[in-house]
Amino acid sequence: YVLPHRAPCSRMGGVSMSGATQGEVHGEGGAYVGGYWKKLDECEENFNIQGGSNENVPPTACPRSTTRHSAAKADGSYDVVVIGAGCIGAAVARELSKTTASVLMIEAADDVCQGATKGNSGIVHAGFDDKPGSTRAKLCWKGNQMFPALDEDLHFGYQLTGSLVVARGAEEEKHLEELLERGATNGVENLRIVRGAELRKMEPNLDEAATAALHSPDAGTLIPYEYNIALAENAADNGVEVRIRRIVDAIEKTTDGFEISASHWEPKPWVESKAMASDALGNYYGGVGEGGPWDKFPVLVKGKQEISIDDMKVGGSGSMRAMDGVVVEKEKIRTRLDPEP
Ligand SMILES: Cc1cc2nc3c(=O)[nH]c(=O)nc-3n(C[C@H](O)[C@H](O)[C@H](O)COP(=O)(O)OP(=O)(O)OC[C@H]3O[C@@H](n4cnc5c(N)ncnc54)[C@H](O)[C@@H]3O)c2cc1C
Repeated sequence: YVLPHRAPCSRMGGVSMSGATQGEVHGEGGAYVGGYWKKLDECEENFNIQGGSNENVPPTACPRSTTRHSAAKADGSYDVVVIGAGCIGAAVARELSKTTASVLMIEAADDVCQGATKGNSGIVHAGFDDKPGSTRAKLCWKGNQMFPALDEDLHFGYQLTGSLVVARGAEEEKHLEELLERGATNGVENLRIVRGAELRKMEPNLDEAATAALHSPDAGTLIPYEYNIALAENAADNGVEVRIRRIVDAIEKTTDGFEISASHWEPKPWVESKAMASDALGNYYGGVGEGGPWDKFPVLVKGKQEISIDDMKVGGSGSMRAMDGVVVEKEKIRTRLDPEP
């Protein structure tokens, strides 16, 4: 699976590229906006470089684990609580922020984008690979087509690179035909099998054995952190309350909604500096049920601290244990559905 026309890395330096992108590096002399490269002097209107909302705002102290507003209703409950601030939770929170719902997003880690999202490859797939009939097959192409406009709004550096699935020889080319057919079934447009000089022009660094490739001009790449952070920031700007360092321990159904129990933790040095009691709960750290793909991962090491599989399940390297955290508070959070008007 090859993404042609990418920013040059050491292996690809000096290569001349063609297509939607030309090998520029996001942030160096310009930026990718809506999938396409814009030079710095064209960015002014897109980025509010002068006269922007933050131009004259001095840096302020970190608000620590909370946005500066509460989105709670008068009785302290919320319409919706989103648990987990990865790209999915943040996107859901942002969509909800377009409504009048009161929304809280809570995250176990010390920041957004500390779970699977931060480790992903950043490919915005076109949808030709997904099993027909699956949810992914139904949604991937539609979602793919939303990215240029989403990036025009949020500026996370979406690059419309296109993608090539490369075959070496007749046997592998059969698979390209299968993908082409599957793509058509899934409603993916603009797919084509390319060969020879056209293929080499698209990606001059291909293996000599490459004979053909499935080209999708609609696949792209993004920077997962930029994407996740942009979604969460925009949700918060539009009224979603965000609490980080909250591990959800339990969810119970109530007569009119849910009650969520969460452990609020803070880094130990900060807690000690605040002279807060920590003895009773000092050894606690959260995790979700056993099993699942994380169990295949070895214990990771960050600095001098080991990060266990449990840490990776909840909060990744920003987890409570990796951050030497202690629970400072047990919170109860309620959602309540208002009766139909
Ligand atoms: C190596 C790799 C490469 C990938 N490459 C791609 C790709 O190129 N393109 C693509 O489309 N997809 C890719 N994926 C898949 C993609 O990364 C995931 O589908 C996506 O990140 C899932 O987002 P999420 O928000 O559901 O999960 P996450 O980002 O994991 O977010 C879940 C959040 O919930 C929090 N949480 C968990 N338990 C609790 C709790 N009890 N209380 C509070 N918070 C909690 C976690 O701390 C975490 O922050 C890749 C995945 C991997 C692992």
